[in-house]
Amino acid sequence: TLPDPEAEARVRADDRGHVFHSWSAQALIDPLPVAAGEGSTFWDYQGNAFLDFSSQLVNLNLGHQHPDLVRAIQEQASRLATIQPAMANDVRGELARRIAEVAPGDLNKVFFTNGGADANENAVRMARAVTGKRKVLAMYRSYHGNTTTAITLTGDPRRWTNEPGDGSVAHFFGPYAYRSPFHSSSAEEEGQRALEHLEQVIVLEGASTIAAIIIESIVGTNGILVPPPGYLQGVRDLCDKYGIVFIADEVMVGFGRVGEWFAVDRFGVTPDLITFAKGVNSGYVPLGGVVISDRIAAHFDTVAFQGGLTYSGHPLACAAGVATFEVFERDGILERVRDLGSRVVEPRLKEMLERHPSVGEIRGAGLFWAIELVRSKETREPLVPFNASGADAAPMGALAAACKKAGVWPFTHFNRLHVAPPLVISEEELRRGLDVIDRALDVADEYTA
Ligand code: PLP
Repeated sequence: TLPDPEAEARVRADDRGHVFHSWSAQALIDPLPVAAGEGSTFWDYQGNAFLDFSSQLVNLNLGHQHPDLVRAIQEQASRLATIQPAMANDVRGELARRIAEVAPGDLNKVFFTNGGADANENAVRMARAVTGKRKVLAMYRSYHGNTTTAITLTGDPRRWTNEPGDGSVAHFFGPYAYRSPFHSSSAEEEGQRALEHLEQVIVLEGASTIAAIIIESIVGTNGILVPPPGYLQGVRDLCDKYGIVFIADEVMVGFGRVGEWFAVDRFGVTPDLITFAKGVNSGYVPLGGVVISDRIAAHFDTVAFQGGLTYSGHPLACAAGVATFEVFERDGILERVRDLGSRVVEPRLKEMLERHPSVGEIRGAGLFWAIELVRSKETREPLVPFNASGADAAPMGALAAACKKAGVWPFTHFNRLHVAPPLVISEEELRRGLDVIDRALDVADEYTA
């Protein structure tokens, strides 16, 4: 029963006293004590409800406390809570088979990890083993995780203080038509020029040194950048031409976020490796992995893969993954994401683009959309500078605060607000949340020129 100020004080005191938080100056944060969650809503201890338009960290695809996932974990826990990875296990095998069944082309085997960063870590390790080469190309404006290789691949400021600087990764520009690094005047031209640029990077870095190219199929945290038609196929062709492994990072966009099992399905492209995590089981128990093509898997038929994790394919996590497949199929999740995205979200965001001087561009797919905020539509100057913090970030802070005050928990990053609710959100909740964002944008408008 809420409000519960005593419990709130206890949770806050333990947290502030002893929990060391990610990506934060510890004395400058005040984490919200959360009492409960259900579906697309969670509650603080004062009884305030928040529509979770961020799906936590864009992992909670089936919402809070989905009964099927909770039951699957409970049943698995009572049957066999854990078993080490060198043994065969029913739910681990079933989940691997179901992932292989929906993965494109000949991606038929799965190496399970604990999350997204170690999925990318191990995908790169496979690419290096298979090609005998070391360098990896990755995009500026990307996030691939927080372990050493994954943070080095990352193309955002989180890399700056963490990279070893050993020359094993080179970065390139992906397509971003609204802020084109190639001075393009259309999405098609942007895609074409981005491919020409990538080929030059391959040649100048030395194709004989490059093991892999890793790309978020749709860039997530760094902008919800949907590649123009033909771009991912062009990357596939360049990888074939130069003997490079194509790794698609689907940690954020896989498992329904854009209305497909994998975002590459929108483009009809088959990478050599797909990395996943988050939506595979909505993060109820940590799980990630690499889906592996027959060609790459065959390399390890007689040569040992030099990698492993105690909790690879943890039964509790895999049971929640199998239940996720059952819910997706029974409840038509992919279809409803496509429908809600095109019928409800896209038109509503287009209205916001028309109405608000602070909205420079809207873009996305399924239930994954970005509102890019500017000081002026004409100059496209970002509402806050790249990597803004402190006073510089105030306009975005004010926008987020306005959303929260009206009961919507938003995802914000630099000068963008992302719309990424659970895929099970009701149409009424979705419309209500979009109304809140629309009104909150009045706050951002106050900062326009
Ligand atoms: N790759 C992408 C595209 C992500 O969005 C993330 C996390 O947000 C990761 C990798 C890292 O995943 P994890 O935090 O599970 O290690």
